[in-house]
Amino acid sequence: MKKTLASYAASDKNSRGRIHPEKSPAHRSEFQRDRDRVIHSAAFRRLEYKTQVFVNHEGDLYRTRLTHSIEVAQIARSIARAMRLNEDLTESIALAHDLGHTPFGHAGQDALNACMHDYGGFEHNLQSLRVVDELEEKYADFSGLNLTFESREGVLKHCSNTNAKKLGAIGKRFIKKQNPSLEAQLVNLADEIAYNSHDVDDGLRAGLITMSQLNEVVLFEKQYNKVISKYPDLGQRKVIHEIVRRLINAQVVDLIENSMSLIKESDVKDIEEVRKFKSPLIQYTDKMREQNLELKQFLRKNLYTHYKVLRMSTKADTVIKEMFSLFFHHPELLPEEFGASAKACMHEQDAIGCARVVADYIAGMTDRYAIEEHAKLFNPSHSS
Ligand code: MG
Repeated sequence: MKKTLASYAASDKNSRGRIHPEKSPAHRSEFQRDRDRVIHSAAFRRLEYKTQVFVNHEGDLYRTRLTHSIEVAQIARSIARAMRLNEDLTESIALAHDLGHTPFGHAGQDALNACMHDYGGFEHNLQSLRVVDELEEKYADFSGLNLTFESREGVLKHCSNTNAKKLGAIGKRFIKKQNPSLEAQLVNLADEIAYNSHDVDDGLRAGLITMSQLNEVVLFEKQYNKVISKYPDLGQRKVIHEIVRRLINAQVVDLIENSMSLIKESDVKDIEEVRKFKSPLIQYTDKMREQNLELKQFLRKNLYTHYKVLRMSTKADTVIKEMFSLFFHHPELLPEEFGASAKACMHEQDAIGCARVVADYIAGMTDRYAIEEHAKLFNPSHSS
């Protein structure tokens, strides 16, 4: 694979390396090793029981953060291979990109961010970086997974300037307004392609949105018409899947072709020129960007704020906020490993540190663990 990589792709040779230097792996690339470490992490396994929109026990058919991450990796790898970018790195970033997510999707993240308002806030991208840099306890020689700079750069998709200043080398690009690698850029868009398409699929399946509503959206309508005219008698399930796969394909093809021509025009020669280039080079055409935005807005209006989704979000909000407040004021109720760190912070009168320990504990929970833990804490008839 190395031989066929484009000159502007990330590679072992141009990698900025790991925080704790390690011997190169014998039969893998550095980025394969990153990906393998992500797959063997506890945070990765927990993705199976975390959701993005639907709460996990709603049904077994819906996406979880684990299946979402696998779909992102699949889309990202296809794009990377077509563009001769580094597939191993895209896979490593894609599988790690959601590791820092709280239970209960967006609602959980908003609730935890509100709890952390006076203590530095809670950003899920930053939390994903905390997971791979610090929170995973697996290796004898270091905390975290000691991933390469390029995987870490890809995981930290967004970051506030205040936080970027505290992060050293990995935060610099936010201050300097530079780009990450092309691999990181494409995972970011593969993430969007994946969730827009699977939320359409899950939303239709759950009966929260309908085909006729979706036909207001240009991107969907175009694929719908193609499928219906070619297969007028097709059953509903297959119609949905045919549309969804075409939706993904249309966005992927647009992204590859447009990005290839942007790269050619830009004349970037290597990854450092990619980082310094005036704008990201992985981009949709303007037309596709607009259509994409329309779909996103549709989902926001009709799915993410559907009353059934909002009811779950409200419950999630209560669960997170009540647990945070209780643990923050009574760190002695935390399980041992978190309790010890929280007590050490209390001893130093470090409220920010103590809040961060509580946030780390809550963010690591799966949906069902959070529900169970909340019941143990607040329901007197529940065993603790
Ligand atoms: Mg994602």
